[in-house]
This record gives sequence, structure tokens and C-alpha cells, in this order.
Amino acid sequence: NQLNFSGGPGALPQAVLDEVQQSIQCVPETGLSILGISHRSDWFEQVVFELERNVLSLMGLGSDYKVLLLQGGATQQFTMVPMNFLGRHDGAHADYLDTGYWSAKALPDARIQGDIRVAWSGRSENYARLPEDHELLLSPSASYLHYCSNETVEGLQFNRVIGLPGVRRVCDMSSDFLSRPGQYDQFDLMYAHAQKNLGPSGVTLVVIKRELLEQVPKGLPSFLDYREQARANSILNTPPVFAIYVVLLATQWIRQTIGGLDAMGEINQSKAACLYRVIDQSDGFYRCRVAHDDRSIMNVAFSLPDPGLQAHFLAESALLGFSGLAGHRSVGGLRASLYNGLELAAAEHLAEFMSDFAQRNG
Ligand code: PLP
Repeated sequence: NQLNFSGGPGALPQAVLDEVQQSIQCVPETGLSILGISHRSDWFEQVVFELERNVLSLMGLGSDYKVLLLQGGATQQFTMVPMNFLGRHDGAHADYLDTGYWSAKALPDARIQGDIRVAWSGRSENYARLPEDHELLLSPSASYLHYCSNETVEGLQFNRVIGLPGVRRVCDMSSDFLSRPGQYDQFDLMYAHAQKNLGPSGVTLVVIKRELLEQVPKGLPSFLDYREQARANSILNTPPVFAIYVVLLATQWIRQTIGGLDAMGEINQSKAACLYRVIDQSDGFYRCRVAHDDRSIMNVAFSLPDPGLQAHFLAESALLGFSGLAGHRSVGGLRASLYNGLELAAAEHLAEFMSDFAQRNG
């Protein structure tokens, strides 16, 4: 587990894993296994309450935001966002940025709901960079702007908030949620599945401005209606109790052990810096194809000059216990994902291996 660089589900901190293991036997306050605790219990209601409080406090947000714990992964949000907020008036439309594999994936599902316009696309440049502000074709009358803060596959990450004043901002933060400080009060809706930085798959967090909840159209299926989910405090039907509990433990860990998002961001920055340093100092042995200023600190995507060498890299690293270093199936290459639970020492260990591999094979 210590050397898990997977781009999918990330490693969890050892302290959290220890608590999870204990909870499978028995959650001390309840005398019951976490796998058998009712979602209608007072205990679980407190779990949801404390988790919401932790998330808002870490993000520096107040009670004008609501945290929802939903199912269906980040993918379900590709439908829920336009279904709830595109609007049904004449000319209703939303702006989307197409900056990589995942933001592109949001488009077809959104288009089922209505008029979706692409305000910028990086597709023709093979998603090697993010847009400059002056390139964006944003519409002041859009119902909202949707973009992805961190493109997990390509390793591109925004370091600024995008959009026009007065147009709601919606952001897929699945792969960098609670990983660094940010101007979160600039967003109207943020969503992220748990399995990268916070816990197992099964729960998706939505942080939404409460005033938006009033604008949800009538007649939506209750499960896909943010207002109904908020009214039920995320317990509209049987929620993934186990996954939600693990996310609570992870937020406690970020607050109490790490010390908040400033500290979390510094650790994540250091992990990425040690890998990019090896790449930049390798005289072209390792290649990182994305623009320097847009490099992600969560997903370091890189490649080697030939596929044989790449296979050799993966085989040798696997023997040393490194796992998850193959790039996403859509782009190939290599990728080291550095989610919250991965320790700095693990990234440093990988950097050492990469230097050594370059010296022996360069
Ligand atoms: N958005 C981003 C940024 C992702 O990285 C992923 C998956 O890795 C998704 C959306 C899809 O998430 P899910 O599998 O939870 O639907």
C-alpha cells in the first residue's frame, strides 16, 4: 500500500487504514461493525453532520454552502448538473471547457439535457496545455460554466479560477479535492468522488451554494434532484455508510494530523516537485508533454523514448514494490499519481528509482 501510485483509487494514510480495520470489527461508540450499522441511526446522522462540518471548514466555506454525499460516481454529476441547472427557458445554454479526457467525457451526457457549448478545446493539441483567459469564448448569458480543475489522465491542473463574474461556476474536482488551498468560495457547485484523495469508491461529494438549491426545476426524479438530496441530508435512500465513514476519518486526518489544506498542499507540492525535478534533469530521457505552467501536482504524466524501455521501467519498478505507474489506457506512457494518502517518502523513493533507472539506461 505504501507505494501505490495508481491514478484510480488512491492510497489511504496508514492511520486511517488502522481505524478502518478496527471499525470493521467494531466502531467503539456503537459496539457494532461499520458494515452493519443502520443509516437511520443517530450515530450515522452525526457522521454525516461531522463530515459536512469538516469539509466546509477545510475549504474555508460557511453555512451558505451545503455538502451532499451522493452515489453514481463523478459520472452521475455529468448528468445531474445540466439536469438541475441548465434551465428550460428559450436560449438556455451552458459553457464547457474541453481540456482533457474527463472534461470531454462530461459533454455527451450534458448534451442529452440541452444546448452545451464548448468555450475552449485542447483536443486538436492533444490536450497538452490549458487555455489562456483571452482564448476562452465565454458567454455572459450561460446558465453556468463547467470545467475540470485537474485532468487526471493528462496531468493538467488549473492554478487559477476560470469564468465570468455573474456566471455560475461548476467544477469537477474529483482528482484534486481537498488536496490544496483554493478560492473555493468562487464556485457555485464543486463535485468530487472520494476514491482519489479521501476514501473508497461509492460516495461522491457535492459542495453546493444553498441559494442554487432553490433554482432546481420541479419534476425531477428525487434521486437526481439536488434539492431533495439536501432536504434528506444525503439519506434519501440507503447511502454507502462504510465509504462515508472512511471519508470522515480522512477529513479528520487532514484536519488534525496534517493541519489543514495549506499543509496538505505543501506536502503534495513537495511530492510532485521531486518527480518533476528528476524528469527535467534527465536530459530528455523522461518526457513530460504538458505545458510547464499547467503541470498537475496530483498526476505526474511522463513517458520514455521507446515502448521497450517503458515496459522495462514498469517491470523493474513493480519488482521493487511500486504499483500503478502505467499511464491511462487512453494515452499510454507512465503516470505517478500522488493523492493525499501517499507519503512524501514514497514519492522521494520513486524519484530515486527514476534517477537510477535513467543513469543505467540513458
Ligand atoms: N472526473 C475525473 C476528473 C476523474 O478522474 C474521473 C475518474 O477517474 C471521473 C470524473 C469519473 O469518475 P467515476 O468513475 O467516479 O464516475
